[in-house]
Amino acid sequence: MPLLADVAVPVPLSQAFTYEVPAALAAEVRPGARVLCEFHRRKLLGVVLSVSERSTAIDPSRIKPLTALVDARPALPAELLSFLQELAAYYFAPIGEVLRLALPAIEREQVRALKAQGELDGVLDLGRAKQVGGRKVAFARATDAIEEPGTLRGQAAALLAVLRAGGEQPVARLEERFGNARSALKKLAERGLVALDEREPPRDPFFRLAEARDVPPELNAAQAEAAERIDAALAALAVTAGEGEPRAGAPREPRPAGPSAFLLFGVTGSGKTEVYLRAIKSCLERGRGALVMVPEIALTPQLVARFRARFGDALAVLHSGLSDADRHAMWSSLHGGNVRVAIGARSALFAPVPDLGLILVDEEHDGSFKQEEGVRYNARDMALLRAHRAGAVCVLGSATPSIESVALVRRGKLTELRLPDRAHREASLPEVTLVDLRRFGAGPSGDPLISLPLHRALERTLAAKEQAILFLNRRGFAPSVVCGSCGTLTTCDACSVALTYHRGRRRDAPAGSIAAGAVAPPPAGATAAPPAAGAPAAGSLDERPQGGRLRCHYCDYAGPLPDRCAACGSRSLLLEGLGTERLEATIAASFPEARVARLDRDVAGKDRSQAILARMREGKIDILVGTQMVTKGHDLPNVTLVGVVNADAALGLPDFRAAERGFQLLVQVAGRAGRRDRPGRVLIQTRNPEHPAIAFAAAHDVPGFLEREIRDREEVGYPPATRLALLRVDAVDEDVGRGAAAKLAAHARTCPEGLARRVEVLGPSAAPIARLRGRYRFRVLLRARERGPLRGTLAALAGLLRDGLDRNARVIIDVDPVAML
Ligand code: ADP
Ligand code: ZN
Ligand code: ZN
Repeated sequence: MPLLADVAVPVPLSQAFTYEVPAALAAEVRPGARVLCEFHRRKLLGVVLSVSERSTAIDPSRIKPLTALVDARPALPAELLSFLQELAAYYFAPIGEVLRLALPAIEREQVRALKAQGELDGVLDLGRAKQVGGRKVAFARATDAIEEPGTLRGQAAALLAVLRAGGEQPVARLEERFGNARSALKKLAERGLVALDEREPPRDPFFRLAEARDVPPELNAAQAEAAERIDAALAALAVTAGEGEPRAGAPREPRPAGPSAFLLFGVTGSGKTEVYLRAIKSCLERGRGALVMVPEIALTPQLVARFRARFGDALAVLHSGLSDADRHAMWSSLHGGNVRVAIGARSALFAPVPDLGLILVDEEHDGSFKQEEGVRYNARDMALLRAHRAGAVCVLGSATPSIESVALVRRGKLTELRLPDRAHREASLPEVTLVDLRRFGAGPSGDPLISLPLHRALERTLAAKEQAILFLNRRGFAPSVVCGSCGTLTTCDACSVALTYHRGRRRDAPAGSIAAGAVAPPPAGATAAPPAAGAPAAGSLDERPQGGRLRCHYCDYAGPLPDRCAACGSRSLLLEGLGTERLEATIAASFPEARVARLDRDVAGKDRSQAILARMREGKIDILVGTQMVTKGHDLPNVTLVGVVNADAALGLPDFRAAERGFQLLVQVAGRAGRRDRPGRVLIQTRNPEHPAIAFAAAHDVPGFLEREIRDREEVGYPPATRLALLRVDAVDEDVGRGAAAKLAAHARTCPEGLARRVEVLGPSAAPIARLRGRYRFRVLLRARERGPLRGTLAALAGLLRDGLDRNARVIIDVDPVAML
């Protein structure tokens, strides 16, 4: 019988393809290995899923041999490979695309070897599989030497000019621009005009500074209890786990008797991170590796420093800002077993942690664990799955657990561990005051969203030399531009949403001078000195604002503020509402003695937001204004006042999770206040103080909110009471989109589960944002009490999609959807 390999190739098809393993490769072709194979006359890079000696129904003469093996050692360990296959099945996602989430770059040496064998001609996909070399990189820089005038021409002259203007650069980058860079550089170096240097590329910024080892604090009773329970679970694993990784497809080893998945429910500042650190230590001592996932925004040098202080630099930090070389270095240090702890954002879920024993998900309620493009997976849910399959312990941690996780506790799938108090003995939860905006008008600033109580509280905080955070969930200057004559809202041409006015840099060049799409950078030292000659008090401006851009927050559109209303031609366009830019300016004008800064996506490159948080920590900022970015996990000891400028904004969205998200946001931002000895205060401004999300947050009553929200979900039939899958359809042509959605809905209604009413089919309907990036959006929502029937229906629909529904419509299956807009 022939030796056959099932290979997944990077095409949007769910199945694998069968190849024969040539005798020469038989010893090395194993599951998880990358291979070159011929696919419809093209050569593709594929991943071996399984190898076996067997007969097949396929005509043997039609089975092609594998062309070549790429990696000496399988790129994907067995544990990871089988997890990825299950993930692909769960989300009805093409296996080739799922594998790509986990595959490392290809080392240049391998590429060279394959080239030498002549195997790389016509390989389609290698461009997408990134390549990296060893750690050494060549750099070139201009020396101080001056050439004799007129002796340099062509590329050499151009190259030297680039180096003189831009400073040192990697030779590889120069080669992208200058075909002849290497020989030109050599000539320049011979003349002493350029210095060449070969060395390791700069390390990841997380490792820039040395970190002194810390002394672990003594745990308080609740922490100790939690740490012990996790330790016991790890101990149970160590006993039952066999040698090495469970083989894919092999019968699973008996599960340990005790619980192995936990929900660590601890109030903000209760010392959850300390519990994580103990759990990792215990895991490492048992010879197993650990994986820590945090929201991207929480992956700060401050957090990483805490891990390095405990475990040293044997830590792989995985984040979106890594260079390919750094990412590969991190990947191979895990894959080779040199490093056993990985910490990262969502995509760290796929890290090849050796002998995985523990997965931690911090801030497990955070929406950023759900990937909303490509393969739409939820890293929190999949962490539970991966841990379960690997025979590892999983800990989800939060101060505001997701309703889904609470439901898992109730069903006995997660064991709850509680940290009821703040860890610092003197710290207590802040006092929360609701400011009913229907009763309180504008304070001295004149802006109705800066009420008198908020104004007074800011004054007191400044007088006490303490710090304040003002949270507002809207970036830009004004969220909408409205015609003063006819009321028409200025909307995006490509999307059915209002455009936001961004003022950008003050005293800007006239509108139009900034290239479309470019974002005006914030003023240099963003402590927003108010413009000298009395900033226009930011009411509804009658005078035309200078500079600034209209921007769409859903596509890349940016353009000038129009002269007149598109509907009636009136010149009176009003800037309505309050965004963080305007809030910053208004606060700076009202409190001229205060140092005010802003933190939102417009200010931030990652480095800049880090710099702002560092200045905040050093006490160089008095009032920090910002979006969600200010709510996440920062430990800022001198912050005693948190103002929630408009608590209602998040609660009105057409999404069954709006209340849950609003509540989480309020509790998290309130959690920034009073984390040390000084008591904190939180002011929540709202027109809706009775709303449960607001009332429970004000009372610090997280369990009370969860209780009520679970009951509400049960009543309206939303998760976790039911399971959902959303079919997202979009098309340039409105009728095409609507037609495709209608076909899907009809098909779902007439498949067996639909007919038996075990799956409810809602829609088709237009999405709440009916048009995005020029495409009309429709959807069909599938809802079921049980997972089985829902999967049955999805399988039927996936079949329909494979056969081609409508070339001009795009359909995405979103299992357990999070974003409902
Ligand atoms: P969380 O992750 O729950 O928000 P952290 O782990 O950041 O809380 O802890 C909050 C603060 O309390 C940190 O400054 C931390 O160093 C400190 N801390 C944690 N555990 C202890 C302890 N057992 N004794 C003293 N301080 C502690
Ligand atoms: Zn008008
Ligand atoms: Zn748009």
